[in-house]
Amino acid sequence: MPNHVLVNKLAKLAVKVGVNVQKGQVVVIRGTTESKELIREIAEEAYLAGSKAVHVQWSDDYISKSALTHQTVETLENVPSWLIEQHKSFVDQGACFISVSSPIPGLNKDVDPSKAQRAGIAMQKAVHFFREHLMGNRAPWTIIAAPNKVWAKQVFPNLTEEAAEEALWNAIFNASRVTLDNDPIQAWDEHNRTLLKHNKILNDYNFKHLHFRNSLGTDLIVELVKDHVWAGGGEHDTQGVYFNPNIPTEETFTMPYKWGTRGKVVATKPLNYQGKLIEDFYLVFDQGKVVEFDAKKEKLALENILNTDEGSRYIGEIALISHDSPISNTNILFLNTLFDENASCHMALGRAYPMNVKNGVNTKIEDLEKIGYNNSMNHVDFMFGSQDMEIVGLTHDGKEVQVFKNGNFVI
Ligand code: ZN
Ligand code: ZN
Repeated sequence: MPNHVLVNKLAKLAVKVGVNVQKGQVVVIRGTTESKELIREIAEEAYLAGSKAVHVQWSDDYISKSALTHQTVETLENVPSWLIEQHKSFVDQGACFISVSSPIPGLNKDVDPSKAQRAGIAMQKAVHFFREHLMGNRAPWTIIAAPNKVWAKQVFPNLTEEAAEEALWNAIFNASRVTLDNDPIQAWDEHNRTLLKHNKILNDYNFKHLHFRNSLGTDLIVELVKDHVWAGGGEHDTQGVYFNPNIPTEETFTMPYKWGTRGKVVATKPLNYQGKLIEDFYLVFDQGKVVEFDAKKEKLALENILNTDEGSRYIGEIALISHDSPISNTNILFLNTLFDENASCHMALGRAYPMNVKNGVNTKIEDLEKIGYNNSMNHVDFMFGSQDMEIVGLTHDGKEVQVFKNGNFVI
């Protein structure tokens, strides 16, 4: 069992720093039955922070697997109207959203991937307004994580189930800056100031493109969209409420120009997608589009990502993280993007964040698409940073600036 004081601190952090619950606000918590202890604690803390009503959207990955296995594709694709109404109602009430992620890696390995894919697409389409609401920062939202025994055992295969779960709790607390003797809320204030500094330096350079190179074979130019904005750490929603979308986070990220990525990128960590672990893969881009790819394991799952829709073959995010950073230094492969993406430079196949371009959150998606915003149902992050990563930025007046040397920020 995890230390109760630490569980409580993590819950409070999600409420106060994650979504920054306002007096009288409705709070929605989304999570699985794996995390009920933490979710109960978050609900209590949300009420203590002044929420007038807390709603929990429970799910259970094993029951979801049964559904994927036994339901027909037609049934899976039929999203019930009450579920759509529920999302609408939360949006209308100005709710904030806390997601507790506790994935079970490999659970769906025997499920027909095209079935899972079609069910996912149907759901995405049915609640697209909800996705746009959150991606446009029209309400505060945050994602935190909690362990489960299956996940923990895969991260720490040499420990017993119990010990592994304990170890994963501790790794999550550490990565989230929650310790027995600190005030996590103050620790996050300081952390956010550091991230802001990096954002500012990169915004001031206003690079035309970044050139990534390492000994694994990555040699990639990523053009940035005109008037891009580097972000990372806390953000403001459209009402001006300060919130932190990811706990933990170490990244500073921006919007690539949709048609401006060229060259080869070699992944440095496996990618866990819909219960499948894609390993040892690379992508080749031309004019922004993936034109060639391969993977030593689960190539079909990678192909499924790329074939989801037109935008899935283009990238929507490029993120910089020093190799020498707290999560990276644990040397733990969490098998969870929320952590692993914060250990390494990464990019995302699929949609971009409107906030990563000036005035983006107030601009219609159709207009953003004209300037090189990539739209997609997918946003799939994968890691390609390494300890020998070199990044050189090119300014609009033709100056080259070394941004990363030996895997770390040098500006
Ligand atoms: Zn990112
Ligand atoms: Zn991302």
